[in-house]
Amino acid sequence: MNHLSAETFDANARTALADTQLRGALRNLASTIGERRKVALTTVDDWEGLRERARAIKDETLAHLDKYLEAFADNAERAGAQIHWAHDAGEACAIVLRLLRERNATHVVKSKSMATEEIHLNTALEAEGLTPVETDLGEWIIQLAKETPSHIVVPAIHKSKRQIAELFAEKLGIEPTDDVAVLTGAARRILRQRFAEAQVGISGVNFGVAETGTILILENEGNVRLTTSLPKTHIAVMGIEKVIPRFTDLDVFLKLLPRSGTGQSLTAYQSLITGTKRRPEDEGPEEVHIILMDNGRTRMLGHPVTRQSLACIRCGACLNACPVYQQIGGHAYGSVYPGPIGAVITPQLIGLAKTAQLPYASSLCGACREVCPVKIDIPQLLLHLRAEVVEGTANGTAQKLPVKRKIVERLAFRLYAFAWSSPRLYEWGTRIARVLQRPAVSDGRIGKVSTLVAKVMPPLGAWTAWRDARPIAPLSFRELWREQDPRDNRNVATGMMED
Ligand code: SF4
Repeated sequence: MNHLSAETFDANARTALADTQLRGALRNLASTIGERRKVALTTVDDWEGLRERARAIKDETLAHLDKYLEAFADNAERAGAQIHWAHDAGEACAIVLRLLRERNATHVVKSKSMATEEIHLNTALEAEGLTPVETDLGEWIIQLAKETPSHIVVPAIHKSKRQIAELFAEKLGIEPTDDVAVLTGAARRILRQRFAEAQVGISGVNFGVAETGTILILENEGNVRLTTSLPKTHIAVMGIEKVIPRFTDLDVFLKLLPRSGTGQSLTAYQSLITGTKRRPEDEGPEEVHIILMDNGRTRMLGHPVTRQSLACIRCGACLNACPVYQQIGGHAYGSVYPGPIGAVITPQLIGLAKTAQLPYASSLCGACREVCPVKIDIPQLLLHLRAEVVEGTANGTAQKLPVKRKIVERLAFRLYAFAWSSPRLYEWGTRIARVLQRPAVSDGRIGKVSTLVAKVMPPLGAWTAWRDARPIAPLSFRELWREQDPRDNRNVATGMMED
């Protein structure tokens, strides 16, 4: 499955649920990276304090984004880099294309970058006859398979070793093998050659330091280092939210990002790039171009709730923790950014008209908020976007709820509030509901209800279409309490609480 649309999320999710190979791969993800992350967290003294600090830095930056962006641009230019501003994806792609054409580039290498995925840079360049070679192993596998990434950090997580072996045998002509060393050896041989012949290297950016104009890129394979230093020209595509004020702030994010993303104390490589190489005999590119891209980010900045989306450091921890992502993987979201963060960023990037199902791709369990190293309140963002879907306030693009449904919903919630405000009414209400539910209860659960019931009670119909509902208990706590011998009441209460 691939190239799916966010508009068909529900159907995509159902298809993914039936894919046993995919679900096996996702189980591995949760158990390996999730467990490694837990261990890595224990190597930091004050993890919570670090998260607070990171969020404070991000909040400070976002409150004065214009000031820090200007400082970053000035300092990067002083160090020899050239800054370009891109309002949207089209402009960013056009700048890259112009730079490539001006340099008569025929061979381009590229390192893993969510920003370039977001603007569909490869598609734009391929349309002009230029195919950049992905050099991150996972991204290269995806490129060979003509697929899209399914995870922010591990793009080929949906593929099994056997599938990769078959792909390499087909595309590279090597003997089919499940020996990982042989597979990676084949990839290394081919990619080394691509590095050697490339005139331009394209990368993303993890952080841009305003104080020095430095960009930092983290990786584990060494391909970023080769992409940004071997070719004569380096083009870095950077979302404007990636800027941070001071060099010392990196200390905080370098502790948070690798631990949250892959469960490592630190990635194998950290490339700090400040402008071009200084002297001809130095290593590094002769030209560095940094494209500072907005693409909907200033829109997010404008609202106090959506603003926090810009604090994201793309670690992927919320994907690994999300019970929905763990079941359906990344492609079902039909967007570049999958998982909980994708469910909030994608609607803000491309509008709710085509993504209205995404804010509902969550159980609101809060696991994403728990693990997020910058304390983004993703459930709050999801609820905010759901409200926009219901009210149709997102640029007037979302579908308004039918008036009849709105009235019925309001009425139902008023009745509910009224019943809960009176103990007697609540008690009688549950007694009546207990009687009414009887025909639907079987083996202590309510399975899929009949079409008639689903029509009368749409929420119950929608719920039981995919899972069982729990019936109301035969006795409420109050009834149990009253049934007990008063002398035993203390024990009953204690026992109930211990349950
Ligand atoms: S929302 Fe938080 S946990 Fe999810 S990718 Fe962004 S920084 Fe990581």
